[in-house]
Amino acid sequence: MKNEIKKYEQKAKLLEPNTDERKILTNMVMNYSEEFLNNINSSLTYKETEDKGAGIYDFDISDEPTNPDIILNAVKEHIDKPGINPASGGHMAYIPGGGIFYSALGDWLAAIINKYAGVFFAAPGAVRLENMLLRWIGSIAGYPSDAAGNLTSGGSIGNLIGIVAARDAKELNAIYFPKAVIYLTSHAHHSIRKSLRIAGLYDCIVREIDMDEGFRMIPGKLESAIFKDQKAGLIPFLAISSAGTTDTGAIDPLSDIGDICFQNKIWHHIDGAYGAFFKLSDLVADNLQGMEKSDSIVMDPHKGLFLPYGSGSVLVKNSEYLYNSFRHTANYMQDADLHKDEMSPNDLSPEMSKHFRALRLWLPLKLAGVSAFKAAINEKVLLARYFYENIQKIDGFEVGAYPELSIVTYRYVPDKGDADEFNKRLISEILKDGRILLSSTILNGKFTLRLVSMHLRTHLPQIELALELLKEKSEYIRNNF
Ligand SMILES: *Cc1c(COP(=O)(O)O)cnc(C)c1O
Repeated sequence: MKNEIKKYEQKAKLLEPNTDERKILTNMVMNYSEEFLNNINSSLTYKETEDKGAGIYDFDISDEPTNPDIILNAVKEHIDKPGINPASGGHMAYIPGGGIFYSALGDWLAAIINKYAGVFFAAPGAVRLENMLLRWIGSIAGYPSDAAGNLTSGGSIGNLIGIVAARDAKELNAIYFPKAVIYLTSHAHHSIRKSLRIAGLYDCIVREIDMDEGFRMIPGKLESAIFKDQKAGLIPFLAISSAGTTDTGAIDPLSDIGDICFQNKIWHHIDGAYGAFFKLSDLVADNLQGMEKSDSIVMDPHKGLFLPYGSGSVLVKNSEYLYNSFRHTANYMQDADLHKDEMSPNDLSPEMSKHFRALRLWLPLKLAGVSAFKAAINEKVLLARYFYENIQKIDGFEVGAYPELSIVTYRYVPDKGDADEFNKRLISEILKDGRILLSSTILNGKFTLRLVSMHLRTHLPQIELALELLKEKSEYIRNNF
């Protein structure tokens, strides 16, 4: 048996490269990242390749090892190239993430030391680090230091966690679902509807509250809807507002909504996945007043703090509620359960084993300092305002509301022909060019263009290029329309 064990051990050694092999591989990956980053400003933001990434199928799983050169080349050709380049500052569509370098170092360390970050007994320092970061995020929202939260994979899971905590805090059992009412606007992110479904709340009544001309929930309409529902014997229990909608960056009147919810004993959940970190900007912080009145809030570091994808967060003001919703144990956890000074992510989220996400957030904040983040966020706000002012100077363009955060909505209005069709073509011409990426939405039934200034690497030149391309492409289409 010993011989057999040794034989397997010998073969399995490929799983554990030695110092020299590690050095070679690390260098190769470092060279790859350096080349990628050094060329980032001249790389396309969008590229449609012929096979749309299907070449990766030639690298299916095999029994024997593959040369690392071949692997890195496959990454470059079939993964990097096709589609959107999210690391490019030309990415001004949807809500771009960033990909701040320091986070890569955090992920690197997290993967090497592989701390079991979900459980205090296993990784007391890692859990304290996560909780410390959550206290910092909570302090931005104006939450007390004894609030609890979770570093999630993104805003969607954050919304799900907040909604489940709300459901349980209001002791809403299934028999009440058909009478329970949830309030939001039609501009709430689609992950909210998805979360409600996952949380089993599809039998609840969902009321879309009217918005004002700036696509913000009208508090008076919320209040009258609640009164009406109460009178009808229904159970209003949850209002969901947006601190920066994905469509336009509009901020619902958080303070008024907070007051209405408090008076009516309704849970107020804020989806601030895109916008809540703008509280760090002295230019727009006032627009976000009232976050502190909510019961739960979602804030995405992979949006507002420029982190690579995979970093959201959720805070629940009263930690008991979060704990009660997600706490669970088992016999085989009895040793770990005895040792805890702080609550573990394990008790506060659906996850058990989890990626040690705190390091990828902590490293950038420590290495650059919060003041650098504040400056970058201010820069993004001003870039949006600069675009807003200058797109209006180009013949044919009209703009939507003044950007509350860093999203500008605008469209081209041709003298003749279908405006929606014109703007669709404009987007497709921008896509074909590929140097920058813009996207669109429908506002008041009209096909509308969006520019989002939220990328770490979006600076003045990218905005100037956007203006230049929109001018050039709109002239081109006008002459061929
Ligand atoms: C991006 C976004 C989400 C979803 O967050 P993910 O991190 O992509 O899961 C939710 N709400 C708003 C307002 C968003 O902008």
